[in-house]
Amino acid sequence: MREIGVGLLGLGNVGAGVVNILRSHAREIEARLGAQVVVRRVAIRDQDKPRAASVDRALLTTSIEQVLDDPQVAIVVEVMGGVDLAARWVLAALDRGKHVVTANKALLAERGDEVFAKARARGVDVYYEAAVCGGLPILRTIREALAADRISAIYGIVNGTTNFILTRMTEERAPFSEALAAAQAVGYAEADPSLDIGGGDAAQKLCILAALAFGTRVHPADVFTEGIGAIEPIDLAQAREFGYCVKLLATAKRVGEGVETHVCPVLLPLANPLASVRGPYNAVLLVADALGPALFQGQGAGGAPTGSAVVGDIIDCSRNIVAGAAGRVPMPYEPNLKEVAKLPMSESLFPYYLRVMVDDRPGVLARICGVLGERGISIGAVTQKERGGVGQGPVPVTIVTHEAREGDVQTALSSIEALPSTRGKVRLLRIENRLPMA
Ligand code: NAP
Repeated sequence: MREIGVGLLGLGNVGAGVVNILRSHAREIEARLGAQVVVRRVAIRDQDKPRAASVDRALLTTSIEQVLDDPQVAIVVEVMGGVDLAARWVLAALDRGKHVVTANKALLAERGDEVFAKARARGVDVYYEAAVCGGLPILRTIREALAADRISAIYGIVNGTTNFILTRMTEERAPFSEALAAAQAVGYAEADPSLDIGGGDAAQKLCILAALAFGTRVHPADVFTEGIGAIEPIDLAQAREFGYCVKLLATAKRVGEGVETHVCPVLLPLANPLASVRGPYNAVLLVADALGPALFQGQGAGGAPTGSAVVGDIIDCSRNIVAGAAGRVPMPYEPNLKEVAKLPMSESLFPYYLRVMVDDRPGVLARICGVLGERGISIGAVTQKERGGVGQGPVPVTIVTHEAREGDVQTALSSIEALPSTRGKVRLLRIENRLPMA
């Protein structure tokens, strides 16, 4: 039987998942592919580190060059992470005529142009299903299953760490720091979780989704990005009273001839299926002209789910090799991608949730409502909590507005924060109540 040689760059969480699946599902893979996938070389940093997958020691090397130079390696699987180092080796692999499978969203969001241009020039394939939502087959769905359709919007819970934290804060009323510590304890959050918490990881994934769905280049810098670090349990409890939960939502949608992209925590109606995506799970709700709304949900991370997506890519890539048909699946970031206008966040329209901490004095609410009114922002609902007891500090006033322009709301917030009765920053959360399937 024909053998397809694979060289791995990395044998961490994902690399070990890949090796384990290739071994445990070898029979199914052979039957489906009509060829054997054989791991020829594995690059790592530390030869003596214990591994979650057993690999013949003779295959391990600390030299990435050795993997790329191995004539038996037809597909290089980049599962080591990072941007510039990964780009260097992926570009070198493509230069040597190797196909590449990668799980690296940061690499593609930051340097995808170079990677895809090189692959095109060399007539080889780059597959990257695992880069977005781990095991959830969302990229292949957009690229292949929906090749005939026109996607108008994508709404995703694409970061499992933040979804785990928000779920914990909501269900156990834990403060942010405690929920983050719990995420780190179970291995969902990195020691430095800033890329997850700050929304950067979700923004990188959104760039890849938007490029595929809209045929346009979106760079992480184009995406308005706000994380979950400032959310407090009181906001989650208040949101629930208004009939919402809070999710970190990555959104990309067509607006006129342009595209609107943002990653931010939003209030979602409890009735929307995205509201029930709990813990580390990911979900993508996409809206296509012919298909209508469709929801995809599953495990967005972890060695086995992500390894499953990587091995799926290895098989697809191997099929192309067997058929002599590289380039069958178009890659994004090609030179003919359209540049379209990116709508500035200040022009976005949302209803808003605002929480203002105020001194509990007569007339305070009227003044806040006056500021909003001056900006043409109309109010849908207001709650004002009573003072907890004698000598207690400020009390929260919570306001839900009707749809308003982000720029107007931000200006109004500055004025509200300048009122003598206001204590601290106003907490603003956008409300996303226009999603389908609610
Ligand atoms: P990881 O556990 O940190 O593993 C990284 C591996 O790469 C390690 O085996 C490491 O070697 C090796 N490595 C790093 N730098 C190297 C170098 N200069 N030379 C040789 N080997 C090197 O990372 P991971 O969680 O598997 O993630 C890998 C990639 O998959 C990342 O791009 C990540 O964003 C993506 N991804 C991960 C998940 C997930 O659930 N973890 C989900 C989706 C996508 P040593 O073991 O010797 O240190």
